[in-house]
Amino acid sequence: MAIYNLGSINLDHLYRVDHFVRPGETLASTDFQTLLGGKGANQSIALGRAGARVHHIGAISRNDDWVLNEMRASGVDTDRVAQLDGASGHAIIQLDRQAENAIILYPGANHRLTREQIESSLADAGPDDWLLMQHETNGLADAIELARQKGLSIAFNPAPMVAEAARPLIRDVDLLIVNEVEAMDLTGTRDIKAAESALTRDYPQLRILLTLGREGVVYIGPEGREQQLAFQVDAVDTTAAGDTFIGYCLAALAEGLPPLEAMASGGAAAALCVTRLGAAQSIPRRDEVDAFLQ
Ligand code: ADP
Repeated sequence: MAIYNLGSINLDHLYRVDHFVRPGETLASTDFQTLLGGKGANQSIALGRAGARVHHIGAISRNDDWVLNEMRASGVDTDRVAQLDGASGHAIIQLDRQAENAIILYPGANHRLTREQIESSLADAGPDDWLLMQHETNGLADAIELARQKGLSIAFNPAPMVAEAARPLIRDVDLLIVNEVEAMDLTGTRDIKAAESALTRDYPQLRILLTLGREGVVYIGPEGREQQLAFQVDAVDTTAAGDTFIGYCLAALAEGLPPLEAMASGGAAAALCVTRLGAAQSIPRRDEVDAFLQ
């Protein structure tokens, strides 16, 4: 069993500034870092650290080999990541003294996947395997069609949410993973109870994981409706909580564990993640999650 994650890889260029740059201003930054990010890369890293066999499908610039090394160090197979001319997806992030941020996001290579690349990436995949996708690359409809032909199970985390683009894709997936805001945007509702009702009414075949931040997560599927409360921790930074939850929970579901156990694994990993600063570097290792659950 393997998980093929069609996902974004972003370089997050983080600049500390006194204030956000104003029109016409040239502003010196006091500190600069480049970190690996993107929902796709984060979810692959969470899957890899959870111990799943994960093949990342994506694209970056020819100049960014360090990104692949970092993903491999977490157990992610990067053979299906294309290296293209032109820029990798990247974010220019200004972080001011109040810790507010202002971000320019350029999708770059993340939007230059081809059907041929996706097809050859799935050449060895079969009915025991999963396809995972978010909404930060192109090629989603092609990937769904190809995965369906080969009998893979499909998990979709339509983030960032673009409801009109996501709705037609959701009909063809097996597992939908959304947070509260995404669930409400997708269903055009204003509270989470209404969103849950609309999702179960509109997509009766779908298995759904609804993540509720500090309230934990709800699963709806053929087994019924189950809720897992969040673990109580002192949160310092919730960046990548959702990605960590998805990686660990899907790794467990794909191994055949029942939803409640998978949600406990995802919830524990995400709880550890929110006690740490940063994105990919805050995703815990499997031994840390196992120790936390004991
Ligand atoms: P996203 O990061 O996509 O907004 P959520 O905020 O719903 O997603 O968080 C995903 C999961 O992370 C939650 O279901 C929960 O298990 C865990 N989590 C998030 N915030 C906290 C927190 N403050 N304390 C403990 N667990 C949390």
